Amino acid sequence: MSEKINAFHMAQQQFDHVAELLNLDPEVREMLRWPMREYKFMIPVRMDDGTKRVFFGYRIQHNDARGPNKGGIRFHPAETMDTVRALAMWMTWKCAVADIPLGGGKGGVAIDPSTLSVHEKEQLCRGWVDQMWRNIGPRQDVPAPDVGTTPQMMGWMMDEYSKLVGEYTPGVITGKPVGGGGSLGRTEATGFGVIYTVREAMKHLKMDSTKAWAAIQGFGNVAQYAAIGFIEMLGGKVACVSYWDREDRAAYTVSHKDGIDPYFLQSITDQYGTIDKDKAREAGYEIEPGDAWIGKDVDVLIPAALEGQVNAETVQKISDRVKIVAEGANGPTTPEADEFFKERGIFDIPDFLCNAGGVTTSYFESVQNDMNFYWSKEEVLSKLDHKMTNAFQAVLEMAEKEGVYMRDAAYMVAIGRVVKAMELRGWL
Ligand code: NAD
Repeated sequence: MSEKINAFHMAQQQFDHVAELLNLDPEVREMLRWPMREYKFMIPVRMDDGTKRVFFGYRIQHNDARGPNKGGIRFHPAETMDTVRALAMWMTWKCAVADIPLGGGKGGVAIDPSTLSVHEKEQLCRGWVDQMWRNIGPRQDVPAPDVGTTPQMMGWMMDEYSKLVGEYTPGVITGKPVGGGGSLGRTEATGFGVIYTVREAMKHLKMDSTKAWAAIQGFGNVAQYAAIGFIEMLGGKVACVSYWDREDRAAYTVSHKDGIDPYFLQSITDQYGTIDKDKAREAGYEIEPGDAWIGKDVDVLIPAALEGQVNAETVQKISDRVKIVAEGANGPTTPEADEFFKERGIFDIPDFLCNAGGVTTSYFESVQNDMNFYWSKEEVLSKLDHKMTNAFQAVLEMAEKEGVYMRDAAYMVAIGRVVKAMELRGWL
């Protein structure tokens, strides 16, 4: 998110637009425009050199009408109260559109974690929980990893919480490592979830998926499993993926005329999603500029890297053949590009529907923690498919009934469900 754009104002504007479409009462709007609870706290950490350093932590609980708050903890230097507020509000809508019984939350610490030693990171994670433990928990608020935080950090946080409450409580946090309370299928969940929604969109548009081609931006967690899913579940081909090359400080598109082999590319990719371009070239791949992915002659575009990538400039390169844009990343499409999609009749699957597979599987993780009984990967993915398909169909039905675009329809479904829960609980 650019420094200039206040993310929370943007989130409130999006909400106001849909509140208008839904004709919500002013008092309901006021209750949903703001988080229910906000925490900002100091985390003093003893550094390795013996000095004490003070960090500031945040946790925002936007709305818990549908269940405990849910959302990641970011360790990022540009973290502010307003970015966390916006992300918490978006989580409320994401959980509601996926129809999982959770509210929206988000947390963070303004720090670049790569500047800390392993021991300092552990102290910071434990310190965050020491300040927040009374206000999180399996029935209150369940954090998860996000930008700059890892499964190992979730393991430390769970351990600290369990010590403080005096009992093993894996359900306090999700995204834990498998074997330490994590769920099978979480690695594939977001990318496969994207493909379940693409499959439903293709059925709706009467497209033959076995003849379809996709172009994907990114080659990290979401993009890799979206590529595998597109090929293995739909029988289609993937023309290219793209990545950020840290050495060259440039983005590249990696394409193959017969379609990429995601397993080969995975085998030459590092843990940050960077592909070894020399090895790719040797194997017959073409290396093109970073934005080449968006101009490919394909049926489906899957932005799965960063926000703001499909914008007023790049959208002009989209080929006439493109029928579907599936937003694997968060916020990849700017409002100008949205207008272009509407004019061109491109079917957009909005981010908070399209990439809800991650949070849905996090919910499955806490369900398994509560039961102390763990499902096979097949069971997790089949439950995920069911949830994603139902979510997609509910949004499509709303879009057709109200004659609105998919993004507005997704907001209408989500906000409508939260308002209904508030009514049922007697809050309105
Ligand atoms: P990741 O860090 O694993 O991968 C990011 C990929 O994007 C890498 O391959 C990187 O090289 C590439 N990239 C970075 N800058 C680029 C650029 N300028 N051009 C082209 N490629 C570039 O991240 P991820 O977990 O795959 O997440 C991707 C997006 O999906 C983010 O917007 C994230 O918020 C969103 N998302 C992720 C999940 C999840 O479960 N991982 C869930 C919901 C949403």
